[in-house]
Amino acid sequence: MQNPFENAMRQLTRATAVKQFDSTFIEQISYPHREIRGHIPLRKDDGSLQMVEFYRVQHNNWRGPYKGGIRFHQDTDIEEVKALAFWMTLKCAVANIPMGGGKGGATINPKELSITELEQLSRAWMRALADVVGPQKDVPAPDVNTTPQIMAWMSDEYGKITGDRSGAVITGKPLEVGGSEGRGTATAQGGFYVFEALRLNFGLSDSCKVVIQGFGNAGEHAAELWLKAGHKIVAVSDSKSAVRNQNGLDIAALLEHKKTSGSVRDFAGGETFEGSELLFEPCDLLIPAALENQIREDNVARIQAKVVLELANGPTTPEADDVLFAKGVPVIPDILANSGGVTVSTYEWEQNIKGEHWSEADVFMKLKTNIQEQALQIFDQAKNLKTDLRRSAFILALERIAKAQK
Ligand code: NAD
Repeated sequence: MQNPFENAMRQLTRATAVKQFDSTFIEQISYPHREIRGHIPLRKDDGSLQMVEFYRVQHNNWRGPYKGGIRFHQDTDIEEVKALAFWMTLKCAVANIPMGGGKGGATINPKELSITELEQLSRAWMRALADVVGPQKDVPAPDVNTTPQIMAWMSDEYGKITGDRSGAVITGKPLEVGGSEGRGTATAQGGFYVFEALRLNFGLSDSCKVVIQGFGNAGEHAAELWLKAGHKIVAVSDSKSAVRNQNGLDIAALLEHKKTSGSVRDFAGGETFEGSELLFEPCDLLIPAALENQIREDNVARIQAKVVLELANGPTTPEADDVLFAKGVPVIPDILANSGGVTVSTYEWEQNIKGEHWSEADVFMKLKTNIQEQALQIFDQAKNLKTDLRRSAFILALERIAKAQK
């Protein structure tokens, strides 16, 4: 597995080869401000003790408080969290929201925990970090395997420790405890708005064949949104398996099947196949919505999609980027394509601070206007600089961060 932080740094070097920046600025942005790691003693239901490694990386706060999700995953490590925190700094700048970048995690498979163990772990994560997070310091959010319920436990724990019950310390909460309308679907919704803003430039029709890797928060909602807009979802996968149907999958039925069986595997409305083959299905649009390092030098030649839209963070390596760019396959980069999540998270934070509650229509109208403006700016700049969309997005972000630093 390639080191995601090294890949992120290579992306930075490649973007700054297209447009020069002050070298001391680039040097500084290459290092996180702070890396925190430690161990949580988790008392299991059977009385045994498990020491769980946890992380918070505060990458950069020149544009605002550190902001970024928390990942609970058995393979999460400090290098992954550092990469994700760096991308958050750039993403918040691309989204033009007043936030810096951070990320957190814990190395554990939460699917193996009981509900009481998961609550304990979530509260202990917040207790361990309560000193360094806060509405004006660092505002976490959900990521892989962390849910609104987990955000609610963490928000409650922070309130007990500090007395601040505004909820503004963490976003992605349930509506009942200060969550925002639209946050649950915001990542996919933002990706869809970006796709709509750029679709005709890529020669795509309004009835595309779409393939989605990952069927969690980002992937499931993407399937529903693209389907609703008239496209066909011809294949999806999760960590266990993949399923395809050239006539289009019935997404409502597939969601039901996943809910009862725990996987997309053996869905009656399609053909089950190896999850590792999913990326190579013929389609107009491929949406990676799972983990990093999926499209790489060793498998990129087999990609048949006309366009790639990254809802996952870091799914394409720099080598694969080059191959796709040379083939004329646009890759809409993560720091633009999935920035709807952090944008609506920031709206949630703002509503908590002001004591307001905005309607879903207001949230999505603000999101659409903002994200489509950034998408078009990145697209036009890529054309002018004769570069790919990732380098263009990096350049836009770096310019904004450099201005803030000055
Ligand atoms: P999630 O935990 O809700 O879902 C992850 C999904 O990926 C699950 O269906 C899981 O089975 C699947 N998966 C895991 N490994 C896989 C593999 N090897 N092949 C196929 N599927 C696999 O997580 P999520 O919140 O949907 O996050 C997915 C991606 O989107 C991550 O990269 C995350 O950082 C990114 N992202 C999420 C948000 C958000 O708001 N949730 C925002 C921005 C970016």
